[in-house]
Amino acid sequence: MMKMSQEEQLARDGLVKLAKSLFDRGYTHGSSGNMSVMLSDNTIIATPTNSCFGDLDVNTLSKIDVYGNHLSGDKPTKEVPMHLAFYTTNAHYRAVVHLHSTYLTALSCLKDVNKGNCLPGVSPYFFMKVGKLPLLPYFKPGSQEIANTILQYAKTNSAILLANHGPVIAGKTLKEAVYNIEELENTAKLYFLLKPYKYNELSQAEINQLIT
Ligand code: ZN
Repeated sequence: MMKMSQEEQLARDGLVKLAKSLFDRGYTHGSSGNMSVMLSDNTIIATPTNSCFGDLDVNTLSKIDVYGNHLSGDKPTKEVPMHLAFYTTNAHYRAVVHLHSTYLTALSCLKDVNKGNCLPGVSPYFFMKVGKLPLLPYFKPGSQEIANTILQYAKTNSAILLANHGPVIAGKTLKEAVYNIEELENTAKLYFLLKPYKYNELSQAEINQLIT
């Protein structure tokens, strides 16, 4: 194993721990989902292709540069272009997480949702941490079209939902991105629980209080 900085070691350990936590609690399954974190030298540590979040190895994680070149470790996730779209559009983003979590993926398949923001305005935390969740069209997983479309959103949105696929979220840290995607997943779950009933959404004045 090559020598690496303490920052990189901590980033690798943190990624493996957060991935296992998501897997153990059912946010991801099999070899679905991928995540990455950017180091201060702008190299990126990413989950390998076909890896399982429950069983990652700190020493075989993929390392790439901002152009997607493979530097070391196992071959990276095929969704690298999607991750790079966030990193290259907004310098504040230092981590990206993508899941096929059940409720958000179910939401991504619905007809007649508000494409500008497909989650209902029921959770104050959603407005404070994410703001809105646009629904993007369906594209083949791993395709460059996903990245091209994200480029148009990533300046102003930290989270997007890919139709018939799942959510992608960026954050200043990997922990922030993971916590926020968990919040989105739980808000989607609330949506399906509430759907048969009349329910209160926050008013515009209440939302404004949260985002200013
Ligand atoms: Zn996917």
